[in-house]
Amino acid sequence: MNGKCVRWADANVHISSHALHYGTGVFEGIRCYETPDGPSVFRMGAHLSRLYASADCYRMKIPYTHEEMAAAICETVSRNQFRNCYIRPICFFGSSSLGVHPRKCPVEVAVLVWPWGAYLGEEALERGVRITVSPWQKFHSRMMPTAAKACGQYLNSVLAIQDADERGFHEALLLDAQGKITEGSGENIFLVYGDRLLTNDEHDSILPGITRDCVIEIARNSGLAVEARPLEVDDLLHCDEAFFTGTAAEVAPICELDGQRIGQGKRGPVTTKLQRAYLDAAAGRTATYRKWHCPVKQMEAAAL
Ligand code: PMP
Repeated sequence: MNGKCVRWADANVHISSHALHYGTGVFEGIRCYETPDGPSVFRMGAHLSRLYASADCYRMKIPYTHEEMAAAICETVSRNQFRNCYIRPICFFGSSSLGVHPRKCPVEVAVLVWPWGAYLGEEALERGVRITVSPWQKFHSRMMPTAAKACGQYLNSVLAIQDADERGFHEALLLDAQGKITEGSGENIFLVYGDRLLTNDEHDSILPGITRDCVIEIARNSGLAVEARPLEVDDLLHCDEAFFTGTAAEVAPICELDGQRIGQGKRGPVTTKLQRAYLDAAAGRTATYRKWHCPVKQMEAAAL
């Protein structure tokens, strides 16, 4: 936290922090997986690039370099002796003035790590999730930069997941003002039509996910065609298979939309294959995708 390792119980912020009042923080969600090279941070470079890009959107200058952040992440994982964990770097405007413009507020930086299993539940990975169209619309990128991962922007997701959960669904599907599909409250979406994958892109008010990027590359390398275009709810209702992607959710099949079965209503063969390939890549079992790994030990050795 701000350059020092502190105990969880002592990692506190002041109640006058700008971010607490206005949501002015940016963050990442990263996973560290156990691999043959020991614990390894998956897609570190991509996550840090997105963190700095999110900060730029809000004119926030992160007072550390990419390399310092990467070293801090590895040190935090290593000190906690985790082999598999979730990593949450967060940069936010701290305490100074509570005027809306955070110009005088210091930028505070922390890295949190904790063990976190399957985000949508172990069962979801195998059996799939039941989702619902959210009554909450996804905000348009002219309202807030959808490509940025900023704290306050998540109020939209919070409303959507609270509503979905209350109505007995695992996850919400947010549409835009035109009724087109955007994404889940914390996941991107893919549809399977035969040997073709469809997904939307940054023009459709999504956070362009890093898991999405992995799945696109894995799919193309395994001979599937991938097309990015706007998606209608009808496209989802008529596809062979559908799944969510996200760092926390990994690759999660979607089995129902508002009680209507998607495909066979269970994890399909293409989703199964991509899910397995993704988890193999994340666990460092695929030579082609070692490029996505940053082994904690290697980073520590380089820092010595
Ligand atoms: N959309 C939203 C709104 C998210 O919160 C996330 C999770 N970061 C994603 C998509 C998926 O992004 P990633 O694959 O980079 O985790």
